[in-house]
Amino acid sequence: MSKKYPEETVSKHATVRLPKGLLKAIEEFLESEQAKKMGFLHITDVATAAVRDFLKSHGYYPLEERFVIINHDEKGVKVFDLQNRRTADVYIKPKGIWCALCMKDSCEHIDFVLQDRESQTLIKRKRMEGWNLPEI
Ligand SMILES: [Zn+2]
Repeated sequence: MSKKYPEETVSKHATVRLPKGLLKAIEEFLESEQAKKMGFLHITDVATAAVRDFLKSHGYYPLEERFVIINHDEKGVKVFDLQNRRTADVYIKPKGIWCALCMKDSCEHIDFVLQDRESQTLIKRKRMEGWNLPEI
């Protein structure tokens, strides 16, 4: 009997298998203060950043890209700013959208989040629930 892998979906994510030793090293990193400071919470966050850095260093990733989404959750979106190597937490709340890095309700991190399809879906849904969010 062969193991069945998940069917391909319309998701923007794909499953990648990592060697156990590498996985263990990532888990150890995630326990560190450095990982917390950088805003890394999940194995996916580290794997994504590592692959991106590798591709960039070999010229296979668009260099002009400045912002990258680290993760989404029910509170908002965590955006990594590659230019100044800082993490911006963009909160999506009933009162509106807020960038904790800039301490503003309007900035380039929010502009980036508003262009992200997954965030747009959340924002549209919450707007319909009466949240004070920008129209997309
Ligand atoms: Zn900002």
